[in-house]
Amino acid sequence: MSNNGNGNHVKVLVLGAGPAGLSAALYAARAELAPVVLTGMQLGGQAALTHTIENYPGFPEGVGGAQLGELFQKQAEHFGAKVEYDLANEVDFSQRPYMVKTDGGEYKADTVIISTGASPLHLEVPGEVELTGRGVSYCATCDGWFFKDKKVVIVGGGDSAFEEALFITRYASSVTLIHRRDEFRAGAILQKRANEHPKMKFILNTVVTEVLGSDKMEALRLKNVKTGEETIFEADGLFIFIGHKPNTEMFQGKLSMSNLGYIQVNDKMETNVPGVYAAGEAADPHFRQVITSAGMGAAAAIQATRFLEAEEG
Ligand code: NAP
Repeated sequence: MSNNGNGNHVKVLVLGAGPAGLSAALYAARAELAPVVLTGMQLGGQAALTHTIENYPGFPEGVGGAQLGELFQKQAEHFGAKVEYDLANEVDFSQRPYMVKTDGGEYKADTVIISTGASPLHLEVPGEVELTGRGVSYCATCDGWFFKDKKVVIVGGGDSAFEEALFITRYASSVTLIHRRDEFRAGAILQKRANEHPKMKFILNTVVTEVLGSDKMEALRLKNVKTGEETIFEADGLFIFIGHKPNTEMFQGKLSMSNLGYIQVNDKMETNVPGVYAAGEAADPHFRQVITSAGMGAAAAIQATRFLEAEEG
């Protein structure tokens, strides 16, 4: 935890140390702005929770999610970024320098780059946490490949569930989508594609009440919400797509946000407050990839640099 944040006045304060935050820090550091990064709860962001990342360019054999985060951090620090294990919990963007209160103290910042990420919603059933990474996943792009020729279950009835289920059909031998109602939110085209796919099956009006297995997931306990009937469904993988929640509660009422809580930015990553930028999944409900978040972070830092240069005349 930071013990030197008190009274610190920095040119660039980065909130969050996932791909967006650490890329922003790298660019700001190379512009000699001595950025400070507050890690928040998850150094490396969601990517650090992924076993292997195989779609980040430059790593033809893939790279561990946590390892990639460490490399990002090392590179940013090499150019002078300072990474503090501290959590921002209050911001004041009403006047400059902006104020950010943290668990460890308080920062004043000329510019702020928000890269606090998003968190997948959890089912919150027994076994889910214990078997995450051992069959339970929240990212098809990251983990789909590990389920080659395996039996996979998807939970959710929205666009994400359908899109990701169709993606996993590339690998899995069967993909069963389980939904708590008998109507889907997903768009008609996605529904049609899924219905017509030979590997896709559907179980409706049903919820997962427990993930079963010791070392790895082996089965799910299901409950039909209409009849109350409980069944055991054997499967190797469970992908949960019941929505994401951007980690932006702290900025409610202080920045323009979508009704889903994503911070609204323009194509320069500018929020509605001058000198405050947002990058990565806190501002991106669409792509949610390491490379896109890193790109947004770099863009935010370039823009912050230009903003400070313009101010300095
Ligand atoms: P979403 O539209 O909010 O759908 C979440 C789904 O999960 C709903 O079907 C919901 O069921 C179900 N659900 C929620 N909590 C649950 C729980 N505790 N147990 C079981 N099921 C639960 O989320 P999303 O699919 O991630 O999409 C988010 C936004 O991004 C949407 O606006 C979507 O259109 C958009 N999106 C667009 C695309 C695309 O255009 N290609 C792709 C992905 C996402 P109920 O239906 O019963 O509430």
